[in-house]
Amino acid sequence: MKQTNNNTPSIMITIDVEDWFQVENFKPYIPFSTWDSRELRVEQNVHKLLDLFDSFSDNSIRTVEEDDETQIVAKDKEKIDIYQLHPEGEQETKSSKSCLPSEIRRSFHRGRSCQKKNSKFKIQNSKLPKGHGNSKFKTKNLKFPSRIKTTFFVLGWIAERVPNLVREIQKRGHEVASHGYNHDLCGAINHTELKQDLIKSKQLLEAIIGSEIYGYRAPSFSIDDGILKVIEDCGYKYDSSYNSFGLHGRYGKVNLNGQPQKGIAYKISDSFYEIPISNLKIKMPFLFYDRKTGFKVHSEEAEDNSTNQTNSKNPTNPTNTMAESSIPASQHPSIPASIELPWGGGGYFRLIPQKVFYFGVTKILKRSEAYLFYLHPWELDPFQPLVEQAKWSYRFRHYNNLHRTENKLKSIIQNFRYCNFVSCREYLRN
Ligand SMILES: [Zn+2]
Repeated sequence: MKQTNNNTPSIMITIDVEDWFQVENFKPYIPFSTWDSRELRVEQNVHKLLDLFDSFSDNSIRTVEEDDETQIVAKDKEKIDIYQLHPEGEQETKSSKSCLPSEIRRSFHRGRSCQKKNSKFKIQNSKLPKGHGNSKFKTKNLKFPSRIKTTFFVLGWIAERVPNLVREIQKRGHEVASHGYNHDLCGAINHTELKQDLIKSKQLLEAIIGSEIYGYRAPSFSIDDGILKVIEDCGYKYDSSYNSFGLHGRYGKVNLNGQPQKGIAYKISDSFYEIPISNLKIKMPFLFYDRKTGFKVHSEEAEDNSTNQTNSKNPTNPTNTMAESSIPASQHPSIPASIELPWGGGGYFRLIPQKVFYFGVTKILKRSEAYLFYLHPWELDPFQPLVEQAKWSYRFRHYNNLHRTENKLKSIIQNFRYCNFVSCREYLRN
C-alpha cells in the first residue's frame, strides 16, 4: 500500500569515506607513516557510489534478475553489461584513470593476479559476477518518492588529498560530514588530542565545501558518554557512532536511557543529537526455561497456550505439564529479553543473504519507521590490493563478497524504494 508523505519511512544511507589501507584491522600491517605511499582508490569508489545513487533519479528504470544475490538495476542494457563485465569500467573518468594504472587494469581484464611494482601487496584476483549473458530483463516503472540523498562521513586525511571529491559529493546533493582526521580510535587518544582531530577535520571540510559541517562518525564506532560531550564541544550538531551490537570489542557504549527521542535520534542536548546505527532486535519468545529440563524451544503457539490459565486446568492439554513448571526465558534473570543482531551494513551486509537482510530491514522499518545503514567505498572494490599479512579472520571480514556489494546495494535501494532516502541532517530537520 502506498504510504502518505507524512508516515513514509526514512532510510539514511551513510558512507564512511576512507581507503582500503586505513581500516583498523590493517593498522598493524600498514602504519600511518606509509599511508602516503599507498595506492589511493577512494576517488573511483566514491564516484561509483555517486553514480549508483544518481541511477535511481529517473522514474523509469529497468531491472534485471539473475539470482538472489545479483539482482541489479540500471538505466539500460549496455550499462548493465558494463557493470557486470567491467566493474571499474563505468568509472572511466579522468580521476579514476589516474588512480588505476593501465597495466593493472589490463591485468584485471586478463583475470590474473598481478603485483604492483615495488609493493609487497598483491592485487586480488577477483571473480566476475556470475550469470553474465543469461540475464532476464524486466521493464518496470519504479517511482521513487524523491531523489536519493545520503551522508558521506569523510576522513580529513582523504579530504586534504582529494578536495574535489568532497566538492563533488556536495554538488551531487549529498551531505558532507566528518569521519575525523587521522582515523584514530576515539578511546585510543586523550580528549585534547581528540578535540584537535575533530576540529581539524571539521575546519578542513568546511573550508573545502564552504558551508558548515554538522555530523561526525567515529572510527569503528568508538564512542562513550565522555567522547560524545567532546564531539558536541567541538561544534558538531550530531553524532552517528553508537552501534548497539554488543559483541564487537571496539564498538563503544553510551547510555541513552531516558533521553528524549526524535524518531530514531536521541536528543542529548538542545543542540546535539545521537543517531545510532540500526540493528535488528529479536525478542526471545520461543525459548522457555523449564525448571526440570532446562531450556527448551517451543513454538509461539505453545508459548501462548502455556500462559493460558484455562489450559493448565485441562489435564488432557499436551502443553499442560510444561506450563506448570516453565517460565518464559524472557522473564528469566539470566536470559536477556531480546538480542541485537548487527544489521546496519558493512561486513554484515555483505555476509547476510540478501533476502534475509531485507527481512530484517523490513522489521526495523516497521518498528522504528527509520533505518540507518553504513558502508565504506572500499567495500565496492573487489580489485583493491590484498593485505596478505593480515590474519585470516581480518581478511575474511574485509574481502568477503566485495564483488557483490554494488549489486546488493542497488537491490536494497530498489526493494525499499517506497521509503524516503534522506541525509542525516535532513532527517533531524524533518
Ligand atoms: Zn572508518
